[in-house]
Amino acid sequence: MIPYGRQSVDESDIAAVVDVLRGDWLTTGPAVARFEQDLERLSGATRCVSVTSGTAALHVAYAAAGVGPGDEVVTTPMTFVATASSALALGATVRFADVEEDTANIDPAAVDALVTDRTKVIAGVDYAGHPIEADALNEIASRTGTLLLEDAAHSIGSTYRGRPVGSLADLTTFSFFPTKNMTTAEGGAVATTDAALGERAHRFHFIGLVRDRDEMRHPDEGPWHQEVHEWGLNYRLPDVLAALGTSQLRRLAAFKARRAEIFVRYAEALGDLDGVRLPTRRDHVDPIWHLYPLRVLEGRRREVFEAMRADGIGVQVNYLPVYRHPLFEDLGLRRGLCPNAEAFYAEELSLPMHVGLTDDDVDRVADSVRRAVRG
Ligand SMILES: *Cc1c(COP(=O)(O)O)cnc(C)c1O
Repeated sequence: MIPYGRQSVDESDIAAVVDVLRGDWLTTGPAVARFEQDLERLSGATRCVSVTSGTAALHVAYAAAGVGPGDEVVTTPMTFVATASSALALGATVRFADVEEDTANIDPAAVDALVTDRTKVIAGVDYAGHPIEADALNEIASRTGTLLLEDAAHSIGSTYRGRPVGSLADLTTFSFFPTKNMTTAEGGAVATTDAALGERAHRFHFIGLVRDRDEMRHPDEGPWHQEVHEWGLNYRLPDVLAALGTSQLRRLAAFKARRAEIFVRYAEALGDLDGVRLPTRRDHVDPIWHLYPLRVLEGRRREVFEAMRADGIGVQVNYLPVYRHPLFEDLGLRRGLCPNAEAFYAEELSLPMHVGLTDDDVDRVADSVRRAVRG
């Protein structure tokens, strides 16, 4: 089976991890500090906090934004469930804005219609690696006094109008799960351009501990003293995994280039095929392609999915509109809420997309698509 996504780990990655295992630090040490600096350089953020997963990054980002009971978060249904469920974890109400028909990214006009004086965060997702319309969304956020969160689990290394993902929103989250564009096994990060948000993110991921004497309520308790003012969790990424992250970041430009080649090879192989539609790229973005979201028309997605799986091709579907998970159904949300997201989901088929694919693999996948679509 050709998998739809897979990590690329080479000898330089292995050596970086082994070095840490032989050293004095396993958890929060110099490799974490270096990885966070490397992420800041790449993303254009002024502060990055590494965490244990993309889901943890979202939880930390919403907590840093001050999201709590009574607050609303406006987000996209075309994402992995964690973009929305991590806001629920903090007691917020989630509102789903429909997506743009072509990119499947959150539609700024739909967001504008849903923002109220209870909205605290607008959370978009760079679906497949294609950045959200950051300028339009930032305009809404600044006009309405809300924060923009960009879930960039698919898009580390993408740019929007020449600016890197990580510098576009108030808060950006990354995931380093093995199927993403780079990996730390499990892992993630929060990036921000706002020092206060960065400090709050750091504190939340570190149990809420206050260790700076100037900020303590009881500074004279003793030299051992540390205290907690607001609760947090332990979401610290270990040094062992941060070292893998730094090593993978060195390879990210090569990963992006190979993903771009595969994107073009699929487009050339499938461009003339009736019954499918190829993914969109807007002129002002330079995506790292995390997914290749083919659209299978005329209600034939399931049939093509099953034929390709039988052919040994690990196709996937990304994603069920989030409000159709029973978690959200049980809150009263219903199928059909976001028509563009429903239509996209009904057609979407993710072809294998990762740097381990050879040109022959890509051609084999494309041949399988053609056979399945022609029936
Ligand atoms: C993978 C993913 C997440 C969650 O990341 P994990 O590291 O798996 O917890 C969140 N949002 C999106 C869009 C994702 O693709």
